[in-house]
Amino acid sequence: MSDADKKSESYEFTAEISQLMSLIINTVYSNKEIFLRELISNASDALDKIRYQALSDPKQLETEPELFIRLTPNKGLKTFEIRDTGIGMTKADLVNNLGTIAKSGTKSFMEALSAGADVSMIGQFGVGFYSLFLVADRVQVITKHNDDEQYIWESSAGGKFTITLDTVNERIGRGTVLRLFMKEDQLEYLEEKRIKDVVKRHSEFVSYPIQLVVTKEVEVDAPSADKVEKELDADSDDKNPKIEEVKDEDAKDEKPQKIKEMVTENEELNKVKPLWTRNPAEVKPEEYAAFYKSISNDWEDHLAVKHFSVEGQLEFRAILFIPKRAPFDLFESKKKKSNIKLYVKRVFITDDAEELIPEWMGFVKGVVDSEDLPLNLSREVLQQNKILKVIRKNIVKKLIEAFNEIAEDREQFDKFYTAFSKNLKLGVHEDSQNRQALAKLLRYNSTKSSDELTSFEDYITRMPEHQKNIYFITGESIKSVEKSPFLDALKAKNFEVLYMVDPIDEYAMAQLKEFDNRKLVDITKDFELEETEEEKKQREAEDKEFEPLAAALKEILGDQVEKVVVSHKLVDAPAAIRTGQFGWSANMERIMRAQALRDTSMSAYMASKKTFEISPKSPIIKELKNKVEADGAEDRTVKDLTTLLYETALLTSGFTLDEPASFASRINRLISLGLNIDEAEHEAFAEPTPSTEDNSASVMEEVD
Ligand code: ADP
Ligand code: MG
Repeated sequence: MSDADKKSESYEFTAEISQLMSLIINTVYSNKEIFLRELISNASDALDKIRYQALSDPKQLETEPELFIRLTPNKGLKTFEIRDTGIGMTKADLVNNLGTIAKSGTKSFMEALSAGADVSMIGQFGVGFYSLFLVADRVQVITKHNDDEQYIWESSAGGKFTITLDTVNERIGRGTVLRLFMKEDQLEYLEEKRIKDVVKRHSEFVSYPIQLVVTKEVEVDAPSADKVEKELDADSDDKNPKIEEVKDEDAKDEKPQKIKEMVTENEELNKVKPLWTRNPAEVKPEEYAAFYKSISNDWEDHLAVKHFSVEGQLEFRAILFIPKRAPFDLFESKKKKSNIKLYVKRVFITDDAEELIPEWMGFVKGVVDSEDLPLNLSREVLQQNKILKVIRKNIVKKLIEAFNEIAEDREQFDKFYTAFSKNLKLGVHEDSQNRQALAKLLRYNSTKSSDELTSFEDYITRMPEHQKNIYFITGESIKSVEKSPFLDALKAKNFEVLYMVDPIDEYAMAQLKEFDNRKLVDITKDFELEETEEEKKQREAEDKEFEPLAAALKEILGDQVEKVVVSHKLVDAPAAIRTGQFGWSANMERIMRAQALRDTSMSAYMASKKTFEISPKSPIIKELKNKVEADGAEDRTVKDLTTLLYETALLTSGFTLDEPASFASRINRLISLGLNIDEAEHEAFAEPTPSTEDNSASVMEEVD
């Protein structure tokens, strides 16, 4: 070993992590015991990792065959050691995992804290390790990975940490020891009773034995006098047994003398049978809650739980939990896709089996224990395993059942829907088999229920007899859709319209298409509105009357619009722009524009085909008709007014303007007119001066 290897190397924490540590070390937060939950959870994760690796490479376990977590409090030294025989960390792991690579959770956690979140939420943000600074002001991480030497990582918070090749500590075959140097006022965590209490509360269901090194008094036969002396001599270390002589009143001279001896032994703290193997009828709610917390990092109870077993051709047991809240990184693409731990015959296999559950159900946490899968499940086997596919199908079925059960309780469902409506919609989009079942769970605001959400089923009960379709409008927000010109005709007929203002609604509806055999119709797109005989007659007459105006307007607007039609689906508004049935809606166009990385090749096909609709009932349109008949479509004022009408319709129909400046010029000229500003003084409204620099003019020219 060279001298360089022995020296400690110093590294800097990222600024955010430094900040986090000083926040934790100085907090007045009282519930500090959660540090142990976090460290045990990390130990358990490390054990999971080595066990998974050993499935395909059993030799990995040889360096330390027993898998356990061991807690050693030392009151003399005021240290607390948490040891695991997990995967350990290489030097590179130490540098990367403990302090130099920023995690998104670091900042999110600090933001959450300043917004009033609880310190105990730390684990959810992926920075649980640093919770040790709640109780310790200095820490050594002594670790040995199969691929590297034994190292000591050391930090006393502040901005730096060191890594040193370990030549001083006892050798660990494999795994990690966290040696906490406890703060003076946190020595309670070195008490046996306190530790047992905390482990029971937070870590009872960890699936590896958690051993506590306890010191016990036992009675043994007294050794001969000279042997006692020898042992007392050797007693220089805290851990060695102390021997005291005991007065035994009943002792008879001929019997060997009994003495009390202090010995250390490992006491297992979590000897419970795996919860999922028990009969659901006998498991108490608080046991589920404790189990949920132990597998989820959550600090709150779950919202709902499904505990079941499947027997027959295939056998497995499962406990699935639905959390109360969405995690802070619900749709972050880099994160783990599954939160289900997979066991085979009680042996933990992996918590990363994406095949177990569809991505949109990724918020569900739990365990699945299969009797049929082989124990040596490699990633490749997982990917095309038929048994896993059947398990997955069952999980989906049970969870949809669970969602429906939640839906029976208004308050519960509100919580659930607030947290996971996007997931349900993604489910509608992706799961063709369960699409209709999932659609039942969707809820929307509507023209008839503005404060409360309504389901498709409730909507149907309110449909007038002659209404055939389920109508919805898409847009950016409720505010932006509730006054839309598209609503008027439907309101007039007493047809309810659902407000769909979540971008994902567009995707979900594109797949759903119908509910309970009724077509789902986006009213911002082209559709056929139910009409009475009388309405039909009137429409045909008006169509005839306004057809020439429509043709003239099309000529003026040119390629900006696909066509100009006389519309009976408008009431108060003079005009609106509807898109074709099969392309994007205005809202979808907005969504796609907002996606920085979108594939622009699609836009050409999908870009909304715009139909300019004019309402024969509108006084503006009637007057425009007279003006076109009198002055002709070539007239400047007619052209300018038409363009204004078109641009205004773009806005009210949910589109954005390509050239807001020219729209503004037109409006400003109108304002000048209204204020009687001399036309010569200002740019004339009817006769704009053509100029290449002026935006307003360029549009005019285009129109020409
Ligand atoms: P998380 O557990 O959510 O990843 P932590 O802050 O608790 O976040 O831990 C950070 C990382 O440090 C872990 O992801 C892991 O790579 C490493 N780590 C922590 N404790 C151990 C351990 N006992 N054994 C091996 N690696 C560990
Ligand atoms: Mg952790």
